[in-house]
Amino acid sequence: MINIRSPREIELLRNSSKILIETFRLVDDLIEPGIDTKTINKEIDRYIRSKGAKPAFKGYRGFPASACISIDDEVVHGVPSKRKLIPGQIVGIDIGVEYNDYFSDAAKTYVIGEIPLITKKLIDITKESLNIGIQQAVAGNRLSDISHAIQKYVESAGFSVVMDLVGHGIGRELHEEPQLPNYGKANRGPRLKEGMVLAIEPMVNMGGYKVIFEKDKWTVRTADGSPSAHFEHTVVVKNGSAEILTMGR
Ligand code: MG
Repeated sequence: MINIRSPREIELLRNSSKILIETFRLVDDLIEPGIDTKTINKEIDRYIRSKGAKPAFKGYRGFPASACISIDDEVVHGVPSKRKLIPGQIVGIDIGVEYNDYFSDAAKTYVIGEIPLITKKLIDITKESLNIGIQQAVAGNRLSDISHAIQKYVESAGFSVVMDLVGHGIGRELHEEPQLPNYGKANRGPRLKEGMVLAIEPMVNMGGYKVIFEKDKWTVRTADGSPSAHFEHTVVVKNGSAEILTMGR
């Protein structure tokens, strides 16, 4: 069952998302060559708690940190460490917030210093594929219209979508129904209705779609070692166009 959120609940989700937007602003200011990912995680944790909210990932299925920080060929779920960022890297940061029992979830891939043009293209295409997916998150469409639009756009640019990991419903839990793959045929799955809330999150590899799960139980990386990018927003399905809760205005 896919939950339909009332206007009051959407307002609570907006409040949770607002803290998440502010947290990303903090990361925008903080992230630079030389900083280690543990320090970034610590600042994220501190900021979220300073707002009376909780970092949703901390302890989730045993995850040891408040943010997932994934460098280069790490796709998602990277664990913060003493590893320092260096120019030429791309860094995916994924953060969840729980505030007054409502969850928000977003991710963004950052560029450290100068990167090759093709890697820049990977990031631009991934970011735009999220927008293209969000454009399909309207009442009357079906769930896989989002998936299909993302896959089509990414593959037409010569990149591949990760298939082993998916987006999801979100609300009173971090992960709710439905699962939302970033690939598939159009016009399949449940009909989208106003008030459904989705975390849409394309993960895009420069090379092949295959990923491997590391022994640390968390880090997912590309099987061929190619770089991978990730963007995510929490959105509300509406008539006409979706509301992007985790996008600053
Ligand atoms: Mg998510």
